[in-house]
Amino acid sequence: MSKEIKEIAAGLKAFLQNAQEEDLILKAALAQDKAAFTSDVKNSGITENHSPLKMQNRDIHPLPKENSPLDGKTSDSKTKEIAYIAQMINGCQKCELGKTRIKAVPGEGNVNAKIMFVGEGPGYEEDRQGRPFVGRAGQLLDKIIAAMGFTREEVFIANIVKCHPMVDPSNPDKRSNDRAPYPDEIAVCRRYLEQQIKTISPDYVVALGGVAAKTLISQNQTFGAVRGKIFDLNLTCVELDKPVKILATFHPAALLRNPGWKKEAWENLKVLLADMGKMPKAK
Ligand code: SF4
Repeated sequence: MSKEIKEIAAGLKAFLQNAQEEDLILKAALAQDKAAFTSDVKNSGITENHSPLKMQNRDIHPLPKENSPLDGKTSDSKTKEIAYIAQMINGCQKCELGKTRIKAVPGEGNVNAKIMFVGEGPGYEEDRQGRPFVGRAGQLLDKIIAAMGFTREEVFIANIVKCHPMVDPSNPDKRSNDRAPYPDEIAVCRRYLEQQIKTISPDYVVALGGVAAKTLISQNQTFGAVRGKIFDLNLTCVELDKPVKILATFHPAALLRNPGWKKEAWENLKVLLADMGKMPKAK
């Protein structure tokens, strides 16, 4: 067995080893969360007939052209570009989420990353820290990244929307107040993520969950239909400088609610690892 495969196997073991324990801890929480989770998905408005992509061409606010380091081939380093986008996000008030957030969460990681992970939006902890995936779902994402043979420092992590979508925005200190972003929020915010993808220019994007998959892969197909398959990434607001591939799998928060889905998630990610040449392709 090669060193790389051994490392991936060790990471996979770490990723899966707590599944049984989490099963027990989360069993009770699952029953409680299930109704809220179902309600969040229902409230998100992400349906076949009401897709964020149907709203993508209106209310998209371009990044300013004047004095922008993002213009043309003579732009500064990727680091400067990503910092500039973060600065724009931190000052953004282009949708209602900007009015109730504590901190915007632009995203973080390696500007030369070969792989980007994209979730749907910041939650309670992320809103307070201004960093993506720092709660329990973030800890699980770290295990997933390690299982794939990477470190968090080697990848870039971001979300579709950059501010915390809340069921009750008048009460940001309330726990379990998260919801999926609405289509108009996605439509107005997606340009930031798209510019981050263009700047970083990864080889692969992993869409975590149905909102990211609907936004970045297809509004016309169900999450189940696209999950675990590789697509060419086509962006709406910016033109990529090179082809980028995208694969969708479960959001880590969904895996916490449904630990039994972890094996399926790993099967999805094996497809990507095989495409990267880090694992043999399935026959
Ligand atoms: S969610 Fe996006 S568009 Fe809305 S205020 Fe935050 S950064 Fe701006």
